[in-house]
Amino acid sequence: PVYLDNNATTALDPTVLQTMMPWLTNNYGNAASNSHSFGWEAQRAVEQARMSIAHAINAASPSDIIFTSGATEANNLALNGLQLPPGRSHIITPMIEHRSVLACCVRLAAQGTPITYLRPQSDGIVSLNELNNALRPETGLVSVMAANNETGTLQKIEEIGALCRDRGILFHTDATQAFGKIALDVQRMNISLAAFSAHKIYGPKGVGALYVNTADERLRLSPQIVGGGQEHGLRSGTLNVPGIVGFGRAAEIAMINLPSELVRLSGLRNRLKQALFDTVPNISINGHPHECLPGVLNIAFSGVDASSLLLELPDIALSSASACSSKHQTPSHVLQAMGASVAQIQASVRISIGRFNNEKDIVWAGGRLIDAVSLLRSMAPIPQK
Ligand code: PMP
Repeated sequence: PVYLDNNATTALDPTVLQTMMPWLTNNYGNAASNSHSFGWEAQRAVEQARMSIAHAINAASPSDIIFTSGATEANNLALNGLQLPPGRSHIITPMIEHRSVLACCVRLAAQGTPITYLRPQSDGIVSLNELNNALRPETGLVSVMAANNETGTLQKIEEIGALCRDRGILFHTDATQAFGKIALDVQRMNISLAAFSAHKIYGPKGVGALYVNTADERLRLSPQIVGGGQEHGLRSGTLNVPGIVGFGRAAEIAMINLPSELVRLSGLRNRLKQALFDTVPNISINGHPHECLPGVLNIAFSGVDASSLLLELPDIALSSASACSSKHQTPSHVLQAMGASVAQIQASVRISIGRFNNEKDIVWAGGRLIDAVSLLRSMAPIPQK
């Protein structure tokens, strides 16, 4: 089987597992134990991982990194935890955010927080003009994801950061899909808060982080999980030492490989895209064709039911909606917000290529995909043009 669902989750890199192993076995100390070497060693390993994450995004200080159980928790801490000053409680976010951001917004709205949901352009990009028009004197926070999980479309994070800087607005970005794949610089991009997850970058599941620009005194977070006061009191609970160590190592590897993987994965995606467009009629790309994560291709095969297509290809891991939302049997809110018809959404498949895919995988999967689409179309009651 070939795994082309790397936006849902990634394989654990064997090097990452190796780095984690001692912390899963002999080095089982609690990072908060400060009276013996078991604890000291665990703490040292956690601090090293914190430095690796901070370095990867050019954070001013390692203490800007708060470890969490993943990006869902990081987004929850950012949005639910942020104490916006009175008179600045308005939040702007696009309709295409991950559900872990949108669900927080829905809850905040129910508690009285004014929220503006921006519709993206049909190519999935949030227009700076639209954002500008939505700003109010009471806008306190803009939350825009760096890269979309379903389409891979990249947002104009640096420009949005600059706009927020000019208006004195805090800026949160869900950088779960972008981290380790495209360059991120929280200082240059004026990012106040950012969410990350290890399992999207060949690290373990169940660990992530929230970047908090602690130098910004306007940023007041109230913890969502209280207890022993770990992570500066922002996230209580015994630290997941093996997970954190793995996350740190995964981030280091991702940063070393970022430039070469950007080229290699874009090459594989473009090759697959070309093969499909050369042989399959009536297909279209969902999302921006170039402003996109390197390995992601979301394609609508007109007239083909995506779930039937996936059933035809049980040995290829693909996704018909985002894995996180496929439980909601509703058509993708992302594609819907971009103006896609229900028919187009039902015909759409996400292919996400990753580190452990090679050219052979792509050529083989492309061929299988082409055959399956033509088979399904030949069986369709209404012939395709
Ligand atoms: N945000 C985005 C953009 C994602 O793709 C995901 C993972 N599907 C999350 C947040 C949630 O991350 P986690 O699985 O670490 O909770």
